[in-house]
Amino acid sequence: MTDQRSFDDRDGVIWFDGKLVPWREAEVHVLTHALHYASSVFEGQKAYAGEIFKLTEHSTRLRKSARLLDFEIPYSVDEIDAACREVLRANGLEDAYMRPLAWRGSEQMGVSAQNAKIHLAIACWPWGAYFGEEAIRKGLRLDISSWRRPAPYTAPTESKAAGLYMICTLARHQAQAKGFNDALMFDWRGQIAEATGANAFFVKDGRLHTPTPDCFLDGITRRTVIDLARRRGVEVVERAIWPEELEGFEQFFLTGSAAEVTPVASAGPWSFEIGDLSMQLRKDYLDLVHRRLSNS
Ligand code: PMP
Repeated sequence: MTDQRSFDDRDGVIWFDGKLVPWREAEVHVLTHALHYASSVFEGQKAYAGEIFKLTEHSTRLRKSARLLDFEIPYSVDEIDAACREVLRANGLEDAYMRPLAWRGSEQMGVSAQNAKIHLAIACWPWGAYFGEEAIRKGLRLDISSWRRPAPYTAPTESKAAGLYMICTLARHQAQAKGFNDALMFDWRGQIAEATGANAFFVKDGRLHTPTPDCFLDGITRRTVIDLARRRGVEVVERAIWPEELEGFEQFFLTGSAAEVTPVASAGPWSFEIGDLSMQLRKDYLDLVHRRLSNS
């Protein structure tokens, strides 16, 4: 059962600037720079049976995301790793979703923020299938979003920055209002980019095709699945993919730390089968995160 309570009203502790604080006391002021100007970056990672999958890659990306927004997190990768393990343990959780978040504080108001203090918090909570169990069986139904991923010269697209999710929320709301699970987004050139919080893979003639991540996140799960596919001798092609090609793809799945590997049944007018390769890679991914499969 998922906890229906608001996210500010739960039991447990949150790691906040070096201390474990009671969940309901992990608060910030309304004049926080991040709240006004989106100066925040975050991570999403999962713990499986007590171990956080690819933790150091996530902590490294968090620091990189912050640098891309011109701020430095005052904790090293090792310290962030340790804090993540500490808060997981302190909450008595073995299987959980974890959300590290770094942001600019309230010392300075206005666009400029050189004097704002940098904060780091890490929360974790139990979280099942991101799209629900039914989506895994039946496949996701995706809308085609009218929002396009911005060009890398218009936004720090390699950063997992909160501000980049503004159009993702709009796209997902639009999709859900029409009865879809999520939306497939194109980029500013019109090429296929990704979903609102997960990367896209297509299967055709036994090969995997995935868009080159040159204006969206090169997901840690994406890279893991590419590796798993190659281990099986499956050819993986990273390239520009145009919407016209959706017609010819046999299978389609999404990848992400929360989404794991989730099959897609349709995107706009195009349908896909929930095929063997998608489900095999889903199984391989789950075997890997549960340590039933070795890391190399
Ligand atoms: N794209 C977006 C927009 C995301 O939010 C996520 C989830 N972090 C991903 C891709 C997948 O990234 P990862 O596999 O590293 O979780």
